[in-house]
Amino acid sequence: MEKFLIPLASDLIRMKNTSREAINKSAEYCANWLLKQGLSVKVVENKGLKSVVATAGQPDSGKTLILNGHLDVVPGEESDFIPRVEAGKLFGRGSYDMLGAVAAMMVATAEAAKQNASCQIILQLVPDEETGGAHGTGFLVEEGARGDFVICGEPTNLQIAVQAKGVLQLLLETSGIAAHGSRPWLGKNAITHAFETYKRIEQLEFLQASSTFFPNPSFNLAKVAGGGAINQVPDHCAFYLDIRYLPNQDADRILDQIRQTASDASVTVLQQGAPVQTDENDRFVRLLQQTTSEFTGSSVRLFGQDGSADTRYYARHAIPAIEFGPIGANHHGPDEFVDIDSLYLYQRILNRFITNIDERMILHETEK
Ligand SMILES: [Zn+2]
Repeated sequence: MEKFLIPLASDLIRMKNTSREAINKSAEYCANWLLKQGLSVKVVENKGLKSVVATAGQPDSGKTLILNGHLDVVPGEESDFIPRVEAGKLFGRGSYDMLGAVAAMMVATAEAAKQNASCQIILQLVPDEETGGAHGTGFLVEEGARGDFVICGEPTNLQIAVQAKGVLQLLLETSGIAAHGSRPWLGKNAITHAFETYKRIEQLEFLQASSTFFPNPSFNLAKVAGGGAINQVPDHCAFYLDIRYLPNQDADRILDQIRQTASDASVTVLQQGAPVQTDENDRFVRLLQQTTSEFTGSSVRLFGQDGSADTRYYARHAIPAIEFGPIGANHHGPDEFVDIDSLYLYQRILNRFITNIDERMILHETEK
């Protein structure tokens, strides 16, 4: 089946999945391919965006593995959407993040169905990870999607991301009193006020914390808007903070501290996303780590991701979820590529992992 891998990934790159129409067309394309392989396939729509859910294996085995891949990609140059193979690499927008992994997950699920896997495999192909994931993975989880272990095929170079930082994105607004710029003492400057507030927040203790997988949280002043004319004291300033907090920190406590420090500013939460803190000793994590190192011949690192992914929707329900994908580089930038050998390897690892769940978990338990 692995002969399908590069053609599938190349077709998906060519589809230019940066618009709703293209993503939905890709979803239909994947659903048809999976149907042809004899899988049971559903196309689910939420707010006009389509997700594909395909199942293989035994639903009553007591072990459900979810393979989750996103079909959407970030924008690029026209040439990024013409896949090309060069020096063992497949170049193209999404090859690494994460259409290569999507193709591998499709092939792995089809293989598992042909080999009558004992565990259940649910393949989810979703439309909107790059824009928050609410209508894809978020919706599927809301509708009751559950499993014992979730692999999101994000780019990780065959290492395993067990943790991800939480997201807290805020809008802060300060107000002042407008006056003529030649007599600033008659007014109150909202921009300098915002600047002082920002400096105070930057000093807060939560930003000094560290944890096993992360040296620090992150804090980015993303956007500032304020002021009108050059000869005027500004009476309004807005600034935007993008905070990525550690998995062992609490978003509500951080927010309380910020509200206290910025007591004379208004604070609005624009977006909040739960962190991921999958147990490194979870038996599925260990089994995947073992299976991968059996293939690569080297030890597989567990690490924490600074950015967030769809794993967070499962983490919210205490379902162990990790990010695991092939080797490549330059995602979200020019010359994105996936290493072709590593993509084949990735697909074989997924297949062996499924076999190992059958042999080392299910069989082992029934023998007891
Ligand atoms: Zn991604």
